[in-house]
Amino acid sequence: MKIQLLYTLVAAILFLQLPACAQEKQEKKTNSYENLKPQKMKDMTDAEWRERLSPEEYRVLRQQGTERPGTSEYDQHWEAGVYLCKGCGTELFEATTKFDAHCGWPSFYDAVDKKNIKEELDLSHGMRRIEVKCANCDGHLGHVFPDGPKPTGLRYCINGVALNFKAKE
Ligand SMILES: [Zn+2]
Repeated sequence: MKIQLLYTLVAAILFLQLPACAQEKQEKKTNSYENLKPQKMKDMTDAEWRERLSPEEYRVLRQQGTERPGTSEYDQHWEAGVYLCKGCGTELFEATTKFDAHCGWPSFYDAVDKKNIKEELDLSHGMRRIEVKCANCDGHLGHVFPDGPKPTGLRYCINGVALNFKAKE
């Protein structure tokens, strides 16, 4: 009885106290973001983001950068599955909503769930655009334009470097 209680306590402590870096190390090794606890991401420091992402991923996701068009492996990628945030693993776009907008960036006409993304007015570079961010980690994903196909009429123009892909099982 006592040992069992001890086990439970140790398990609980491990579960709660396991430092974030231990998990991140593991994630880095496997390059999988699926098991990340989403709530950790908000507390990540800039230094931790730099450590976690490649320079190009960091430039796009954390500094509102834009990848060169036509450079993403996901631009012309038509496998069945779901696209995840590269920063935190949140599911963002279903492959079924992906279409070829001929603009050089992966494009989707809808998000998996509106709760998973944030849309904010972006007046940078002398343009009036709607920025699309990951609702969980605040990572910059791209922009949404009102010239997409039916049924939404929207075009989520997303940097492929900000995405991960999970194939349908
Ligand atoms: Zn994210």
